[in-house]
Order: sequence, then structure tokens, then C-alpha cells
Amino acid sequence: MGRIAYVNGRYVHQAEAVVHIEDRGYQFADAVYEVWALFGGKLADPEGHFARLERSLSELRIPMPMTRAALTTVLRETVRRNRVREGLVYLQVSRGVAPRDHAFPAAHVAPAVVVTVSRVDRDATDARAAKGVSVVTTPENRWGRCDIKTVGLLPNALAKQKAREVGAVEAWFVDDLGLVTEGASSNAWIVDGDGILRTRDTNANILRGVTRLSLIDVAREAGLKVEERPFTPDEARAAKEAFITGAGSLVLPVVAVDGKPVGDGAPGPVALKLRRLYIERAKASAI
Ligand code: PLP
Repeated sequence: MGRIAYVNGRYVHQAEAVVHIEDRGYQFADAVYEVWALFGGKLADPEGHFARLERSLSELRIPMPMTRAALTTVLRETVRRNRVREGLVYLQVSRGVAPRDHAFPAAHVAPAVVVTVSRVDRDATDARAAKGVSVVTTPENRWGRCDIKTVGLLPNALAKQKAREVGAVEAWFVDDLGLVTEGASSNAWIVDGDGILRTRDTNANILRGVTRLSLIDVAREAGLKVEERPFTPDEARAAKEAFITGAGSLVLPVVAVDGKPVGDGAPGPVALKLRRLYIERAKASAI
């Protein structure tokens, strides 16, 4: 069975799915997206992702294409038709289709909606977590509104490619102050020498990761101290542990930064414990 996508009101075979060549997402990256992890066919962290979707859309003055309830039905139905239990759901909402002109279309256009589902091999990702991954650093070169989850991801794509070419899994952007902002598709964390969990604050130009927010709760409930305080790549290498969070990576230990080991170069107990606790909570709250 091939993959099924939802495209503007219809469920279609993905191989035959098409969008208009004047979709503003295609021409201007005038579109936002969301990604939910799927556990047992259910959407993880639903509230956080819907809230961020609504915020991203409202910052760009794109209307919600349908109610949250209707969108939930569409997401679930696309998952069901793909028969995926462990995976990811991708939703993209663009401003819609209009003759090419940078400013918004004068007449009302309906937002264009696409949903796709992909399978994740959890055994493989658990094995990856048990081994840990490497990251590389790269100068921050993105626009100033990374808090909006737009499909304008070219700097992220280039950074990810830079990582891949040296066998790393993620790239960490480093700003003009020499501080890590976040990863190309994840938030960045360390466990510092005092055992304090540190991740960049949301006043900085970063995406407000839904996994990041849930993990702050999970960590505090587990009695750990969390500070939204930046760190440098040197501090990450000198830290006890480092890890990344995201709907795709969940909680993934980082064992090297720019080819130099973090701590003793092995995944740390805090990251592994938080991964387990986060997955337990995500499964329990999935809808
Ligand atoms: N930062 C960036 C740039 C991302 O693209 C992502 C996820 O795709 C994240 C952080 C993590 O966000 P979330 O935990 O909501 O998946």
C-alpha cells in the first residue's frame, strides 16, 4: 500500500498528490508547518503543537484553515489510512494560491492544507539514543522570527547538510555572542558541571519547541534543576552531558560537538532517563 496524503479536502495517493504552482508556500515560503510524534497511532503533545500552530498562523495573519477539532479528525484519519503506529505527522498550511505578487492577495483566498504521515523505526531510534550522536556548530544566519514555524528552512537545510557531510546528526547554530541558539531541527541542552539542565531562553531567536517545554516539566517533576540560560560550544564540551529535543529526536544524547567529546563521550544517565520519562508522558497524553 502506498502512502496517502491529505491535500485540500481530499485523501489522495501521495505519488499522485499535487499542489498548485502558484501556492504561496511554494513561491514565498509563505506557509507554516507542525510535526507531531505518533505513539501507537496517537498524536503526542497535542495541545502544545496546536497552540503553536495557531500562534504561527496568527503571527503571519493566515486564518486557521478549520477548527482544531476538524483538524484533529483530518490528522487522525490520515494516520489511520496510512496504518502508521509509530511515526510522524506533518501538517503544512500555506496562505493559499494567488497570482505571484509579494504582498498578500487582495481577495480572500483559502489556506492550502497538506498532511503527510511517515513511519519511524523506534528500535533504530532507541539504538541511536543508546549510542549518542554528534553535532557540528555553524554560524547563526536565519531571519529574526525563528519563533514562527515557517517552511522557510533553507539555512536549516544547509546546516543539516553540513552536519551530514561529516557524519554528524545535527547542526547547532551559534549566534554573534558565541552562544548556541538551537539545532537545525531541535532544541539544544546541556547538563552543566553543577548538574543544572540548561537550554536557551525563548527571548532569544529560537523556535519554542513543544518537546522542550514538556521536558522542562518532566525534568522539574523528576527533581532536576532547569535554567533557561544559554551556553557556548566550549561549555557544551565541558558539560557532563548534552542532548537535543524535538518531535523527531524526542530526547537524544549528544556525545560530541565539532568532533570533540562531551563529558566522557558517552550518553549520560540524565539524558537517557529524561528520554524514558518524556516518552512515558507523551504516550500517556497522546490523543
Ligand atoms: N528548533 C527547530 C529549528 C525545529 O525545526 C524543531 C522541530 O522541528 C525544534 C526546535 C523542536 O521543536 P519541537 O519539540 O516542537 O518538535
